[in-house]
Amino acid sequence: MASLDLHKRRTAAVARGVSSTISSYVDHASGGTLTDVDGNEWIDFASGIAVTSVGNAAPRVVAAVREQVERFTHTCFMVAPYELYVSVCETLNTLTPGDFEKRSMLVNSGAEAVENAVKIARHATGRTAVVVFDHAYHGRTNLTMALTAKNMPYKHRFGPFAGEVYRVPMSYPLRDGGLSGADAAARAIDMINAQIGATNVAAVLIEPIQGEGGFVVPAPGFLPALAAWAREAGAVFIADEIQTGFCRTGDWFASSFEGVVPDLMTLAKGIAGGLPLGAVTGRADIMDAVHPGGLGGTYGGNPLACAAALASVETMRELDLVTAARRIGLTLGGRLRDLVASDPRIAEVRGRGAMQAIEIVQPGTLLPDPVTTSAISAECHLRGLLTLTCGTYGNVLRFLPPLVIDDRALERGLDTLAAALEAVRAA
Ligand SMILES: *Cc1c(COP(=O)(O)O)cnc(C)c1O
Repeated sequence: MASLDLHKRRTAAVARGVSSTISSYVDHASGGTLTDVDGNEWIDFASGIAVTSVGNAAPRVVAAVREQVERFTHTCFMVAPYELYVSVCETLNTLTPGDFEKRSMLVNSGAEAVENAVKIARHATGRTAVVVFDHAYHGRTNLTMALTAKNMPYKHRFGPFAGEVYRVPMSYPLRDGGLSGADAAARAIDMINAQIGATNVAAVLIEPIQGEGGFVVPAPGFLPALAAWAREAGAVFIADEIQTGFCRTGDWFASSFEGVVPDLMTLAKGIAGGLPLGAVTGRADIMDAVHPGGLGGTYGGNPLACAAALASVETMRELDLVTAARRIGLTLGGRLRDLVASDPRIAEVRGRGAMQAIEIVQPGTLLPDPVTTSAISAECHLRGLLTLTCGTYGNVLRFLPPLVIDDRALERGLDTLAAALEAVRAA
């Protein structure tokens, strides 16, 4: 077994803190499946955590990167600039919501995008406080660990953390008694006013649908009320669309669903078909507040990643992946709701488009059941379906297929999930 050998080498060479969902090693991957080094095939409901929305090794991306790699691989945009970086910024400024003038900057990862959005918001407002939410996930660097809610595994014994970060309650309909969006926003805003003071707030930072925190979809009205409060308070409203962006939820960006227009957006994951790229895009007056030289990094907006991003966006347009995500959402949501009807362990199906999840509880209660969740997940892996778990309580199974997955693979994946749920029930 080639994977077993690789696992031995890995254990002796790779730091233990870096773990993997499955212990098989990938040989090649396409638009909906991964094949391991022993020839086993997996249906991909993970997309490398919402990254390969256009598929793995997508033809346009491969061609664009191949062409660019022969021209030049790196000059550093801060040293000798190139058109690809400018083109990506132009594309992001056009694609993102808001008909005002925009600017963008490019980085290497999601966490770096969030770090920069906070830097920019603080600089532009001259304020320091950043408001974040329960169950939030924003990354693993020091500032983004502070912004992230969950201790294990992200923060445990990694402190001290960056200061001036304040956490307020999220709208989580399953677990807040079905509080309306307006009431949940009022609860958060009361806390901000009382504990921070509106004039101290540099930024309100939120995922329109939470990712690692459990695919929590806030009640309607929650996001618009927070955005309105931020505008009134002179704070920057930052939507972290790193997981929700680029067609995933059946819109180019999840903020658009309720007509929310963020001041700044953080982007990464689905942006470049698997090449490492992140971005901050938003209002020109806020972005341009920072002095020349105040933003940057050696690799940010690497030419290969930029070429991949332009090719990914072209692919999304050409294949109409907004519509594809909605169609996947109908199939996924429909099948999951059928399962929930006959399975008291599933408290709820939630999500939007090709970003859907089920929350697993002890039947008849809302008590999270992470043990059953892991068992179902392991059973899926055993049966050739790659799924991920998430949630503050580790009791959410999330489904993020590539947006180019074909109907047969999608149905086969859902059949496998149903069989895994049944097998764990019978065990
Ligand atoms: C993944 C993620 C991040 C961090 O991105 P990295 O590229 O892993 O640094 C930040 N915010 C959200 C919402 C994410 O899903």
